Amino acid sequence: MIDFSLLINLVYVLSATLFIFGLKLLSHPSTARKGNLLSALAMLIAVIVTLLDRNILTFEMILLSVMIGSLIGIFAAKKVKMTSMPELVSLFNGIGGLASLAVAYATIIGSTNLSVFILIVSFIALLIGAITFSGSVVAWAKLSERIAGRPIIFKGQVQANLVLVGAIIASGFLVVTQPDVSIWQYLAICLALTMGVMLVIPIGGADMPVVISLLNSYSGLAACAAGFALENNLLIVAGALVGASGIILTNIMCKAMNRSLVNVLTSGFQPVVANEMKIEGEIKPLTPEDAFYVLEAAQSVLVVPGYGMAVAQAQHVMKELQELLENNGAELAYAIHPVAGRMPGHMNVLLAEADVSYEQLYEMDEINSRIEGFDVAIVIGANDVVNPAAREIKTSPIYGMPVINADLAKNVFVLKRGMAAGFAGIDNPLFFKQNTRMIFGDAKETLSNLVRQFAN
Ligand code: NDP
Repeated sequence: MIDFSLLINLVYVLSATLFIFGLKLLSHPSTARKGNLLSALAMLIAVIVTLLDRNILTFEMILLSVMIGSLIGIFAAKKVKMTSMPELVSLFNGIGGLASLAVAYATIIGSTNLSVFILIVSFIALLIGAITFSGSVVAWAKLSERIAGRPIIFKGQVQANLVLVGAIIASGFLVVTQPDVSIWQYLAICLALTMGVMLVIPIGGADMPVVISLLNSYSGLAACAAGFALENNLLIVAGALVGASGIILTNIMCKAMNRSLVNVLTSGFQPVVANEMKIEGEIKPLTPEDAFYVLEAAQSVLVVPGYGMAVAQAQHVMKELQELLENNGAELAYAIHPVAGRMPGHMNVLLAEADVSYEQLYEMDEINSRIEGFDVAIVIGANDVVNPAAREIKTSPIYGMPVINADLAKNVFVLKRGMAAGFAGIDNPLFFKQNTRMIFGDAKETLSNLVRQFAN
C-alpha cells in the first residue's frame, strides 16, 4: 500500500528544491529563462501532487480551478504590453493576497475545535491577504492612471492609521477567541482592506516600484501564513521564498533610490516642491543629421535607456545602430539604472530581446565611475534616472537618489518626443546643460534616421 502522505511530502520537498534553484538562476540575465522554467515546473509538480491530496477539495473542483486560472494567466500575460507589466504584477500580487484571504476564511469557518495556533496564523493570513489585495488594487489603479498617481495625503492620516491598527488588533483578538462568531471575521476583513488602501494612497511618483515589490513580498507572507493554517509544507516554503525575495528586492530598490523603507511608507514625494526648482540654461535642439557627424567621430558611446525606449520599442534599431558604430571603431556600453522603465529589470529584458550582449550592460555604480571618458551619451527615453537634480538641487524631491550621471559625458544626446516630465513628474536640468542636445521625436524614428545616415 502506498503511503500517500509521505509521497506527497517527498514531492513537496522536490518542488521546494526546484523553487530555490529556480530563484538562484533568476539572479543572472543569462540563466533567468531557465530559472523561470524550473520554477514553473516546480509549480506544476506542486499542483499535480496537490490534486492527489484529495483532502482539500474534490478532484474535479481543483482541476477546474487550475484550468480557469491558467487560461486567465495565459490570456493576461499574452495581452499585456511590456510597458504595463507593473500593473499586471500588481494584479497578480492582489490575487495572491485574495487567495490567502479566502484560504484563511475557509479554515476559520470550515472547522470547529481549531487550535489557538491555527486560529492565529489564519488571522494573520486573512489580515496580510486582505491588505495585499486592496493595496495592490490601489497600486494598479495608480499605475494605470485610473486614479491620481501622486501621493494622497490628508489631515489626520497618521491618527486614522493608528486607530485602524488598534481596531485590527482588537478584531484579531475577537476572531481568535470567538471563531464561531462570523461578524468578527467580516469586521477583520473590512478593517484589513481599509488598511491596505491607507498604506498605498500616501505613496506615489517614483516610489511606486518599491510599493509593488513590497506588496509582492506581502503576498508571499500571506501565502506562508495560509500554509501554516492549512498545514501545507510547500505553501509555507513557497510563501517564505516569495516573502524573502520580495523584501530583498524592496531593499535593493530603496537603496537604488536612496530611500529607507520607513521613509517610503510614511511620506510621499511632493510634486509641489518640484515646480519650485530653478533651472538655468537653454534647450538646444539638434537634428539626427547633425547628430550623425558627432557619432561618426565618436570613439566611445554610452547608451542610457529608459521608459521611452520601451514605449517606442526602439531596442532593435538601437542594436542596429550599435553594430554600425562598432564597425566604425567606437566602443559601445549600456548603462542600466535599477528602476529604469516600469519594472525591475525592464531594460535588461528589452535589450536581451534585441540580442545585446550582457557583457555590454553596466550597472549604475560601475558606469558612473568612468562616465567622463565617453564621447557621447545617448539617452533614449530616460528622464528621472538621468536627472542631475538628484545631485545638484537640494530642494528637488529626488535629491539624494542615485542616478546615472549622463550629464558628465562629453556630449549628451537626449532622444524624446517633447519636454514632458518622467514618471516622478519633475523637471530635468540635464536638458538645459551646456553639453546636452535634444533630438526631438519618437526614439525609434530618430534612431532609424541615424541608422540611415550611417548606411548612406
Ligand atoms: P521616465 O518615466 O522618467 O521618463 C520617460 C521619458 O520617456 C519621458 O520623459 C517621455 O518624454 C519619454 N518618452 C515616452 N515615449 C517616448 C517615445 N516614444 N520616444 C522617445 N521618448 C519617449 O523614465 P525613466 O526610465 O528615466 O525612469 C523610470 C521612472 O519610473 C522612475 O521615476 C521610476 O521610479 C518609475 N517606476 C519604475 C518602476 C520600475 O520598477 N522600474 C516601476 C514603476 C515606476 P516625452 O513624452 O517628452 O517623449
